[in-house]
Amino acid sequence: MKLEIDRLRMEYGVGTKSPVLALPETSFGVRENEFVSLLGVSGCGKSTLLSLVAGLRPATSGRIMLDGAEVLGPGVDRGVVFQAYTLLPWLTARQNIEFAVAEASPKVKNRDRIARELLGTVGLADFADAYPSQLSGGMRQRVAIARVLAYKPEVMLMDEPFGALDALTRSLMQELLMQVWEEHKLTVLFVTHDISEAVFLSDRVIVMSKDRENFLTEVEIDLPRPRTPEVTDSVRFHELTSDLVMRLRDEARQASHL
Ligand code: ADP
Repeated sequence: MKLEIDRLRMEYGVGTKSPVLALPETSFGVRENEFVSLLGVSGCGKSTLLSLVAGLRPATSGRIMLDGAEVLGPGVDRGVVFQAYTLLPWLTARQNIEFAVAEASPKVKNRDRIARELLGTVGLADFADAYPSQLSGGMRQRVAIARVLAYKPEVMLMDEPFGALDALTRSLMQELLMQVWEEHKLTVLFVTHDISEAVFLSDRVIVMSKDRENFLTEVEIDLPRPRTPEVTDSVRFHELTSDLVMRLRDEARQASHL
């Protein structure tokens, strides 16, 4: 396994009057080059799990292993893309990526060329000199992906990266991510509450439940690759999505008191 989540558990406010069990004991693995999505209704613990893997906070118990070594804090071996754009606003798109290349590999000389290539990968070669404020939301998120690629991370952690985008931009971004994933042979752990997004992108969907007893179930996504938009018209795509809708609708109903 590339990434192993081993009996990980997270409780906020331990020792206070009202501790919150954000993540019940959880174990699963992600293989090299695998695309795994964590799917579940709001509040089931997806972001908590991703932030633990990113090393942004320590777990209450359990451990995370990456390439056989325990994760003990943040590191450039894990590239993180969040919903909110995290570009440096005073640098252009190209400079944002050069900055990442310099941080990841200080000795590398041709940062400019690498940055331009990465911008080409995400279809933004013509926007190298634009500042984040001059780019649309989808474009900024593409720069954020290019910047993470600059670190050559062992795993890419994505938390609702397309959540703030309109539906059409979102589906174009999903296609782009599939191309980048094929090209760069990435290992991805992706958080979403969007069922079709999870099915379209993933090799495996891990469904997280608010039911703390039956917390995790897994669904293999046996759709052919490479994934193109046509796959969403297939019978199998509809079978997989409706199966997941059935699993999640009762939870969503309870969560929103409908
Ligand atoms: P999701 O990403 O699936 O929406 P989260 O991981 O954000 O879920 O949250 C899981 C649970 O933990 C929720 O009940 C949330 O209110 C709680 N929680 C998240 N972050 C904190 C925090 N910093 N302190 C206390 N409780 C938190």
